[in-house]
Amino acid sequence: MGGIYVLVVEITRPAEIQVGKLGRIRFAPGTYAYMGSALGGIEARVARHLKREKRLRWHIDYLLSHPGVAAAGVYVWETTERRECEVARMLAAEYEVVPGFGSSDCRCRGHLFRCELRRLGGILEALGFRTFRLPKLRWGHRGRPCRD
Ligand SMILES: [Zn+2]
Repeated sequence: MGGIYVLVVEITRPAEIQVGKLGRIRFAPGTYAYMGSALGGIEARVARHLKREKRLRWHIDYLLSHPGVAAAGVYVWETTERRECEVARMLAAEYEVVPGFGSSDCRCRGHLFRCELRRLGGILEALGFRTFRLPKLRWGHRGRPCRD
């Protein structure tokens, strides 16, 4: 299955993280949404995001390698079109953007947003995203992809 996806990331405590060439970024605790695309296969991409040990390549890899950071859920939109920047612009209108994060190859302000899960889910589902489950994901106690 190929498409675009939103990875929900929980940051449990204040963290200052070296994000590759982007530099050191301070993150306040909270819920963040990372907009990505994996037209070649979302399953493999998500599995990569969840793997702690890997060569750090993308900005999101640096973020997820930090001990105070965990992937908490995924929303996917099956598509063959590169629509991630379109969705990123919509999310940028709603949420605080982490400048430059994940947007080295496009003209977006960023592909990582500090968000609020309940509303994020509503926005994404209205667009046609659905929640995506992988057995390796650490699910919340109520079977939701993330705490809310
Ligand atoms: Zn973009």
